[in-house]
Amino acid sequence: MEIRNCSRCGRIYVYDGFKLCIDCRKEDEEDFQKVKDYLEDHPYSNVMKVSKATNVDSKKIIEFLKEGRLEIRSENNMFLKCERCGKPISQGRYCDKCKVEMERELKRTARVLRPVDKDKKHKEKIKVAYRHKKYNK
Ligand SMILES: [Zn+2]
Ligand SMILES: [Zn+2]
Repeated sequence: MEIRNCSRCGRIYVYDGFKLCIDCRKEDEEDFQKVKDYLEDHPYSNVMKVSKATNVDSKKIIEFLKEGRLEIRSENNMFLKCERCGKPISQGRYCDKCKVEMERELKRTARVLRPVDKDKKHKEKIKVAYRHKKYNK
């Protein structure tokens, strides 16, 4: 059993894989429900409008968006941007193009870089040792 401090209210709670205590999570859940209900009636709202109507902090609504629990349907949103290229996105942290590119990069690095890197380091070590010996003579 691991005891932690809630990252929002600071109260001590038994850690179960979440960084917030049960009370704060319940509060989040209620807020999320409010936002969801409002969006069902007003599907093309912006964050400011939703925040005002539901009394949920706009930062929290943006968190919901980043977690992918909410989605922006409006074409011209200006507050959620791809963290890699800065393009406006409707949910998550990266745009679709960057997601594909990053996955490709990741696969390539995993396949090629790991063995080559290890080998190179080893060779470099040998070279340095050799040179060192030569200069000493
Ligand atoms: Zn808490
Ligand atoms: Zn991007």
